[in-house]
Order: sequence, then structure tokens, then C-alpha cells
Amino acid sequence: MELINWNEEDQKYIWHPAQQMKDAEVFPPIIADHASGMYIYDTEGREYLDMISSWWCNLLGHCNPEVNDAVKHQLDQLEHVIFANFSHKPAIELCRMLIPLLPQGLRRFNFCDNGSSAVECALKMAFQYHYQTGQSQRQRFMCLSESYHGETIGALSVGSMDLYAKIYKPMMMNTIHFDGLDCYRCPYEKTRTSCHCECFESAEKAFQAFGKETAAVIVEPILQGAAGMRIYPAEYLRRLHHLCQAYGVLLIDDEIAAGFGRTGKMFAIEHAGICPDILCTSKGLTGGYLPMALTITTEKIYQAFYDEYGTHKAFVHSHTYAGNPLACAAALSVLTILQREDILKKAAKKAIYLHNMLEDALGSHQNIGEIRHIGLINALELVKNKKTKQPFDAQRRIGWHIFRKAMDRGLVLRPIGDVLYFNPPLTIDTETMELAVARCTAAVHDVLGR
Ligand SMILES: *Cc1c(COP(=O)(O)O)cnc(C)c1O
Repeated sequence: MELINWNEEDQKYIWHPAQQMKDAEVFPPIIADHASGMYIYDTEGREYLDMISSWWCNLLGHCNPEVNDAVKHQLDQLEHVIFANFSHKPAIELCRMLIPLLPQGLRRFNFCDNGSSAVECALKMAFQYHYQTGQSQRQRFMCLSESYHGETIGALSVGSMDLYAKIYKPMMMNTIHFDGLDCYRCPYEKTRTSCHCECFESAEKAFQAFGKETAAVIVEPILQGAAGMRIYPAEYLRRLHHLCQAYGVLLIDDEIAAGFGRTGKMFAIEHAGICPDILCTSKGLTGGYLPMALTITTEKIYQAFYDEYGTHKAFVHSHTYAGNPLACAAALSVLTILQREDILKKAAKKAIYLHNMLEDALGSHQNIGEIRHIGLINALELVKNKKTKQPFDAQRRIGWHIFRKAMDRGLVLRPIGDVLYFNPPLTIDTETMELAVARCTAAVHDVLGR
């Protein structure tokens, strides 16, 4: 038998996402062989506790037997079919199951296969909606500072993280950005208890200046994930919703990271008790099984596209794998389990335990500025100086070094810069949480001392 060095072969061919490939020479990718529950196993049988749900999408652990069976069953029935002029039961069933779980009023579903595409779809939908309702001057979009909505050009244009967008600016749309939501380093020096969303004035100014030419504002509800798991008050969303209504601007709710129980609610916008005009979801939708995303909207928006063929009002937007039946089957199975097992309610109890344990283990560490949390998500802000909140010099790559140490100890963390975070499957048990906190604490101590 030919003996293959998989790491060498990997380096020959594969351009991995979101990393400097030169780093792979000192820290080669783990060759995953199989996975089960909370663990990924490499080709040598070493285990890795997956505390980041494999890029935030795995909801019920890896290789859940029930979801596996649902996908296998679907595979023998119908693997894929063109979604124009064809439909199928798994897709229809999925919509029927989601409607009661969504904010009331959202009931028209557009299918695609990844989060960025769902955002692109939402942007085009909003633009065309105005175009077809006598508001064709509304051509621009608004977004918040440090927002992240994906990495295709349209989605990048409504994001504001320089890390992803800076060099592509000449290719991008001219989006209106407004500041806000840095609650850890609040420019108004408010705390979570004294906050009255003072930073909202920046949104008000943006609407005063550009509200009439804006088609939609897009927002990550409650949780700005890629910005470093920033968490902000629901009041901000209520006020934004109010402003949108006053100015006739559509509200696009990007639930791709926050949806499916991550913040304790099925959809994070529920914290604010409002209904957006368009909602995007993906990551948790199939429990981390298959790529699928939905852009969901109201009857009012749908109706602006509904007319005789010759009026050319149709939404001419498609993706080859839209409505893939295997992905629908996975999503249906995941939703069934979430509901039957009352997973969100159980996760809420675990969330308290996990946060308290992390606070006890690391809360008083001199280099941990805060441990913010919502649902099972916990984010540790690493700082050089806890009092002044001064960050570490980014060149030192403290987060990356802790990540490496954690991997050596069998814990998958993958921090965002100097923000370490946990975003585990909702089904994590007590023992595994304890192990994760112990391994994480040890990795922090390895790099920063006690
Ligand atoms: C991950 C993410 C996206 C992009 O989804 P992809 O499937 O990676 O294209 C968009 N918005 C948010 C909030 C996300 O977390």
C-alpha cells in the first residue's frame, strides 16, 4: 500500500479559507478523519473538542444518528432537482415548520446555498422592491460599524470590517456606515446598566442625511459575531426598527450566526420583539450538515414582485443548488430534534453553568478584560491592561498562540484576533463544558501565565 503523507499532500493542493497559508508550515491543518458528538478525530486518533461548532453551524453535535438517518433516507429518494418549475416535500415541509418559529409576518422563502448568497439575495430583493413600488431613488444600503455579512462583493459592501474588505473597496458599492455597538469600549463610557443606547445618535444622523435614498439597513441582531462576539442591547434594534419605519427603509435581519438558538431565542431578533422585512438564515439551519440558506420575507414584499409575466416584475435570481432536498431533509430533522427535545430550554440552564465556570476559572485573570456572554456563547476579550482596556500589540498574535496551545491540548477555539470564544453545540453536556473550560484555562496560562 502506498504510504501517503496527508499533510504534505494538503500543502501541495489546498488553499484553505481565511488564513495565511505560510502559517500552515508551522501549524499544519489537522486532517480530520471522523467525528462524533462534540469531538473531531484526526487520522492518528487524536481527539479535538469542537467548542466552535465547526464555524458556528453545528447545533446538535457531529454525526447525530437521527440527522444522519434523515439525510441517508432522503439520499435514496431524491438527491437534487432543479428548483425552478419543480418543488418537493422536504422544502415545503421546512417552510411549514419554520413559519410558527419566525417573527410573525415572515412567510415567503427564497432558497440558496450559503449565507453570503442569502445576503446578496436580500439586498437585491430590497432594491427591486423599491424599484417596483415607485421608490426607485432608494438605491443605497446602510450598515453598522464592524458589521459582517459575508464575503461576496455585495455582502462585503454592507460589512465594515477592514480585515475582510479594505483592499476590495474599489470593487464595492458605496454603502452608508454608521458607528455603534462597541459596548466593551463604549465611547460614551456607559456600562451595560447605565446604557441608553447613546451611540444610536449616529444611526439617527445617518438616516437624517441619507434616509430618503436608502433601500435597506442590514444588521446582525444582538450579536456581532465576526467583530468578536460583541453583544448589544435589544433596545438598539427596537429603535432602529422604529427609524426604518419612519423613513420607509427596509430592515434586513442577518440571523446567519445568531439564529437557531445561539442567543437563547430561536431567532435573535425576538429579544427585541420586532419583525424585520427580510430575514437571512444559514449556519445552524442544517445543523452543520449541508450548505443551505434562506432569505425570508413578508407578503407585502412578495406582492411587489407578483404580476403578469409581461410586466417583468419577477425576481430573476437563482442558484443551481437552491432548495437542495438533502439539505432540506437535514434541516427538517434538526428542527424536529430542537423542538421535540426542548433543546433551547435545556441550553439556557447549561449557559448559566458554563458562564459561571468560565468566570471562576479566568474572570480575574489580569489579561482578560471581560467575559461577555449570551446563550452558550462566551467571549473572552484579551487585553494587555485590564484597567485601561489597552489591547495587546496585534503583531504578537496572542489569540493565535492560545489557539495553538489549545489545539495541542485537544480543544478547538479559533479566536477572532484577541477575542477567544466558545460557541458550542446546544447539546453540550456538563462534563464536556468542564473539560473545555479546563483545557481553555490551561492554554491561556501556557501563553499568558496565571
Ligand atoms: C457566516 C456569516 C455570513 C456568511 O455566511 P457564509 O455561509 O459563510 O457565506 C453572513 N452573515 C453573518 C452574520 C455570518 O456570521
